Amino acid sequence: MSKHASKIRLIMELRRSGITDTRVLAAIERIPREEFVLPTFADQAYENLALPIGHGQTISQPYVVAFMTQALQVEEKMKVLEVGTGSGYQAAVLSKMCRRLYTIERYRPLAEDSEKRLQHLRCHNVVVRVADGTKGWREQAPFDRIIVTAAGREVPPLLLEQLGDNGVLVMPMGPDPLNQSIMRLKKTERGIERESLLPVRFVPLVPGALPEASDF
Ligand code: SAH
Repeated sequence: MSKHASKIRLIMELRRSGITDTRVLAAIERIPREEFVLPTFADQAYENLALPIGHGQTISQPYVVAFMTQALQVEEKMKVLEVGTGSGYQAAVLSKMCRRLYTIERYRPLAEDSEKRLQHLRCHNVVVRVADGTKGWREQAPFDRIIVTAAGREVPPLLLEQLGDNGVLVMPMGPDPLNQSIMRLKKTERGIERESLLPVRFVPLVPGALPEASDF
């Protein structure tokens, strides 16, 4: 099957699975996922599969990317923070839907590769930083939306602090890797509202010091 045909098939599959936001589907259609995975997996880029991106990390299944993007309720004028740049794929998708995207990756080689890809794809409204994302990005706060693409037990408190009024934060959370769900938190006048949306399995959010290449 041609790349175009398999992409269309994927978009139809996402629609059937409940991804109804046409802005999300359009963004996924525009971003070449094959450029974000290891070359040996390029021919599977439009299968609904999580795939390796190197350094022991994975790019999420397209359905999960689409689901989290839809759950985030992003609008054109918004400033968005992503924690866990990984390949840069989720960042590229979001960049088509918001004003500015700030994304943090703790592992420098991944951050550098994703920055190159994002430049190549002309996603000029994305800024990548190498840092511990659990601390957020104080200089750019508050954010209208925050998405965390690695799993933790709870939302890092600094991220909640850096979420603006009426802000939405989406993150996989749970007590252990077999018990995680995508959670959505909303900052309202009445406090933080929490919803559990979808059971998932994600790589862990690792707080603290940045790793050396030899750790991988
Ligand atoms: N959104 C990515 C997939 C993320 S995989 C994509 O579209 O490809 C999770 C990523 O989170 C990994 O790259 C991992 O290195 C990163 N990560 C884990 N803990 C982190 C932290 N504390 N700060 C920043 N990045 C972190």
